[in-house]
Amino acid sequence: MNCRHCGQPLNHVFLDLGFAPPSNAYLSAEDLAKPEKYYPLKVRVCDACWLVQTEDYAQADELFSADYAYFSSTSTGWLAHAERYAHDITRKLALGPQSLVIEVASNDGYLLKNFVAMGIPCLGIEPTASTAEAAEKLGIPVLREFFGEALAERLRQEGRQADLIAGNNVYAHVPDINDFTRGLKAALKPGGTITLEFPHLMQLIEQAQFDTIYHEHFSYLSLYTVRRIFETFGLRVFDVAPLSTHGGSLRVFGCHVNDPRPTAPSVDQCLSVEARCGLQSLDTYLRFQVRADKVKDDLLGFLLEQKRLGKKVVAYGAAAKGNTLINYAGIKPDLLQLVCDAAAAKQGKFMPGSHIPILKPQTLAESAPDYVLVLPWNIADEVVQQNAALKAQGVRFVKAIPRLEVL
Ligand SMILES: [Zn+2]
Repeated sequence: MNCRHCGQPLNHVFLDLGFAPPSNAYLSAEDLAKPEKYYPLKVRVCDACWLVQTEDYAQADELFSADYAYFSSTSTGWLAHAERYAHDITRKLALGPQSLVIEVASNDGYLLKNFVAMGIPCLGIEPTASTAEAAEKLGIPVLREFFGEALAERLRQEGRQADLIAGNNVYAHVPDINDFTRGLKAALKPGGTITLEFPHLMQLIEQAQFDTIYHEHFSYLSLYTVRRIFETFGLRVFDVAPLSTHGGSLRVFGCHVNDPRPTAPSVDQCLSVEARCGLQSLDTYLRFQVRADKVKDDLLGFLLEQKRLGKKVVAYGAAAKGNTLINYAGIKPDLLQLVCDAAAAKQGKFMPGSHIPILKPQTLAESAPDYVLVLPWNIADEVVQQNAALKAQGVRFVKAIPRLEVL
């Protein structure tokens, strides 16, 4: 296999998680009687451009046929983050009724509704029908398509280039990052701004966040590599800000390569930090498997111990990342009896691979657990706060990453 960005042969494995079912392929009760498909889950690193990327495998398209959709609005922390961003960027770029804001992967309108409220014209791009429909109900126009060069070129020809293109947690999920970036270039008005948010590869490595690896997540990105991809297609990263979302993300600000805005010192600063963390050194990548295995072994050891002691452990948050961890560790309902999740679409279903049942959050108290394993560790504080009453009764909350810890 060759690098999806620069085309060089990929000779190094970053992490091999064996085989796993698609992390969002939640199962119905009837599905449990059917065979389940597992796909290789192996991540490679390119030693020319340092793009960390999932290995190609057969029938990749099948992953996207699942009817499941994640609704961004289910996380209150994420909604607040989106609202803050909308107001800050509107001020910073002086957006108004004459502007156009395009969001790629606009989901259920969690972000664009803020621009609608400020009277700023916007356009969502979202191929998933159920979330697109939710956004349209909020008055957001949505194109139900995948974003790439072809769509962007059409927008350009229709005179619908954007003053702001926002992409939150989409850049790492696109199979063809080159085509997507060409699309950003084509859909951006002269003088326009791109902001992309993605989990920072540096945090993944430093915090052993290997559970953020799953098939639908094609790329694991550093500023170094994003800047390089932008430059390849006539764009420039002119500013960058670290964010606490998803365990440590970056928000990059991009413009056309010839835009008069100067590049902020934050860009060089972030690149130096990445270099100091070894992101351009092959050894850093080759050492990661051992660290991921330690997290997996510690969690498994904890669950086995609780089982021997007769304690009850349940989980909170049927997130995709939970499935990576649970399936890599081979955890089944004998060790983790159930998982509660606030998303109605997941309730009554089962986790892929492990077949752990997903129930309503109210079940958490009813099931009288000794421990609650919070799978989406990025919102662990929010989960503990929401369940302060349970904690007061002596239920202990734990998370597995970056290390096993009682909260
Ligand atoms: Zn490469």
